[in-house]
Amino acid sequence: MSERSPTRTGDQALVREINLSLIMNHLREHAPISRAALAEMTGLNKSTVSSIVRELIEGRFVYEIGLSSASIGRPSTLLKLNPSAGHIIGVEIDVDSISVACANFAAEVICQHKESTGGWSQADVMARALALMTDAAQTGQRRGLNHLLGLALGVPGLVDQVTGMLLFAPNLGWENVPLRDILRRHFPDTPIFVDNEANLAALGEYFYGAARGYDTVLYISAGTGLGGAIVNQGHLFKGKLGYASEFGHMTLEADGEPCNCGNRGCWETLVSPPALFRRIRRAVEWGESSVLAEWVERDWSRLTIPMVLEAARRSDDAARTALEQVGHYLGIGIASLVNALNPDLVVLGGMLSLASDFLLPVVEEELRRRALRWNADAARVVLARHGADACLMGGIAVVHQSILTQSVAAR
Ligand SMILES: [Zn+2]
Repeated sequence: MSERSPTRTGDQALVREINLSLIMNHLREHAPISRAALAEMTGLNKSTVSSIVRELIEGRFVYEIGLSSASIGRPSTLLKLNPSAGHIIGVEIDVDSISVACANFAAEVICQHKESTGGWSQADVMARALALMTDAAQTGQRRGLNHLLGLALGVPGLVDQVTGMLLFAPNLGWENVPLRDILRRHFPDTPIFVDNEANLAALGEYFYGAARGYDTVLYISAGTGLGGAIVNQGHLFKGKLGYASEFGHMTLEADGEPCNCGNRGCWETLVSPPALFRRIRRAVEWGESSVLAEWVERDWSRLTIPMVLEAARRSDDAARTALEQVGHYLGIGIASLVNALNPDLVVLGGMLSLASDFLLPVVEEELRRRALRWNADAARVVLARHGADACLMGGIAVVHQSILTQSVAAR
């Protein structure tokens, strides 16, 4: 993966991969569609489109569904993705939940399930995740999507891209878990992908969500921790070993709160639901009154984002101030990243994005105030479309792209 020879063949393969991806995305969004319309929409020439479509039809990934009834000119054959080419499973193991989705080859989700795992041991979480994956695969079979094309798992930590080993997940408290090997024992003939959940979520937004059509996408996801990813021209920026985009562990306060990673003052200690809750709890401990103290009956472990939002909508000062402070630090971090990366889109995802009504105006103000004007002007800030499902959709996208690229490139 780390060596790339700049040969002509390598360039041609890359161009082919990009063209294939373009055609697949247009088929997914605009099918039924003719070859001529595909050429027009993608800007590719007709012979390139015809050649790629021929290979997709031979691989049974695409099929012809009859003629268009165009009012002008000859009617042309319409094309569609073959949903029955097989099924794909996306899985996310998060800090207190497991989510699983099964999709057909047209990337339409046919079943989805989420359950809470708060306080479970690592062994229990893994056993349950495997059972849910098996259920999803059986559902795929029952729906006539016989072939399991691939399985992608997202986790909130660093993943060794070569071995599929989860090296470190600070908020799960897991270290050195050979995830790909564990999955392979249960699904021996299936291509398996394991990656950081924010990486997959960013791809989910790029292929199926808010970031479609953008060139350089900065994805920020604030859940229990603060994760992120960069998608450039349709590809994740992974760094040398695949550990890039750990934005949540940038130091923003030299002597700040301790972080689960071992450092102090990381961005995620300032911007995450736990950071928001801590600010509210401390404000109340310092004597500020808040309706939230009543609602949780002083048991702060019961505090949730929807509660904070409801309090803020009722003009609760402690809730509003805490949201504003979190928005302020979210904006500071994003302004630095926008200066570093010059994205054309910033996507906010994760649990904290539920509070976007309060956070987005502050983030945009900080971005204008702190980033270089040209960088700030180039970057739109939007909410993730898939929210909690972005990681699952990204897993489905990874398998989809990989199956196609390999099948067609192998011909
Ligand atoms: Zn940290």
